[in-house]
Amino acid sequence: MDTLKFAVLPGDGIGPEVMAVALEVLARAAGEENLKPEPVEADAGGVAIDRHGTALPPATLERCDGADAILFGSVGGPKWENLPPKEQPERAALLPLRKRFSLFANIRPGLLYPELVGASPLKSERIPEGIDLVCIRELTGGIYFGQPKGTRDLPDGDREALDTMVYKKSEIERIAEVAIATARSRGKRICSVDKANVLETSVLWRQVVTDYMAAHAPEIALSHMYVDNAAMQLARDPNQFDVLLTENMFGDILSDEMAVICGSLGMLSSASLGTVENRHGHRFGLYEPAGGTAPDIAGKNLANPCAQVLSAAMMLRFSFGLEALADRIEAAVRKTVTSGMRTGDIAFGGPSVGTREMGDAIISNL
Ligand code: NAD
Repeated sequence: MDTLKFAVLPGDGIGPEVMAVALEVLARAAGEENLKPEPVEADAGGVAIDRHGTALPPATLERCDGADAILFGSVGGPKWENLPPKEQPERAALLPLRKRFSLFANIRPGLLYPELVGASPLKSERIPEGIDLVCIRELTGGIYFGQPKGTRDLPDGDREALDTMVYKKSEIERIAEVAIATARSRGKRICSVDKANVLETSVLWRQVVTDYMAAHAPEIALSHMYVDNAAMQLARDPNQFDVLLTENMFGDILSDEMAVICGSLGMLSSASLGTVENRHGHRFGLYEPAGGTAPDIAGKNLANPCAQVLSAAMMLRFSFGLEALADRIEAAVRKTVTSGMRTGDIAFGGPSVGTREMGDAIISNL
């Protein structure tokens, strides 16, 4: 029996509840294929601050080092909100993980099933077929990490702050490669988003993406769009896009807009892929729901576990190469949600069941 060894960091708030469901679904689905998930659990986030005095203890990092992927819940909550920014669970747990495993490629599907178009703030007639696109965001470069960075007092008594936006050709090429692979598995269209009318980094971005795709993926249709227009077009007609490819800050903002138009945070998963190959010959990655710890509903059996289950499916696809198994889990989630079963999310309305019942239903639909 082949084993699938991954680190499990459930985190805070609804994290442990939805993670428990994801692990059950994984165990059942993988077991039927004679595969054995080997989740190695560790503390991260607020719970780790409480137990070990730091959001990402060395023991947690060790367990991640020894695994082929990380299945992450979410971290943070009101209890830790007054800590200094650098010690906040999100910043102190996620950013070091991104750095340690060079998680440069964030893949966020924007998916809304046609049966649930009413959950989107967009008019249903604009999205009769639902929504189906993917945002590929560069995650380790750009203005969030560029140096120099800082704040200083000026001799004239004024005060200034500085951030640096910087991109290398090699960083743009490697994220373009992820977008190409994604487009090949879907509609074969990439829209690269930048601000090339103003930013030098965007001029380079546009040039490198154009050259790289001409050389390596001439069969993929490439278009370019300025980020301000892309924000408008997402709200006007999201299905004009197949794969959106963009840099770190633009992707941060656009992928959140995408989450809103897809109706529910409880349904959206994400993958952050690294540069390192794991023992299965696939990319090491971190997989997590798009939403946070939802403190308002934590511990009430109300959280929608679908985003966490779909994140686990992404892990099977990208870090273990188990495409068919991932498809099967995704289909079970879809069948469960479109059969009228809903949990947590008031945006979806309709009959309500608990987190655990939702998990049971997903398992029975496998
Ligand atoms: P949130 O995503 O936790 O919640 C926003 C709203 O969406 C809430 O009403 C919540 O109930 C709902 N929601 C989110 N996920 C849901 C689910 N699975 N099922 C049903 N409803 C769901 O965002 P927030 O309230 O801004 O943040 C809460 C905490 O989470 C903060 O401490 C924040 O720092 C943290 N956070 C962590 C991550 C992460 O770990 N990657 C991401 C975002 C926010």
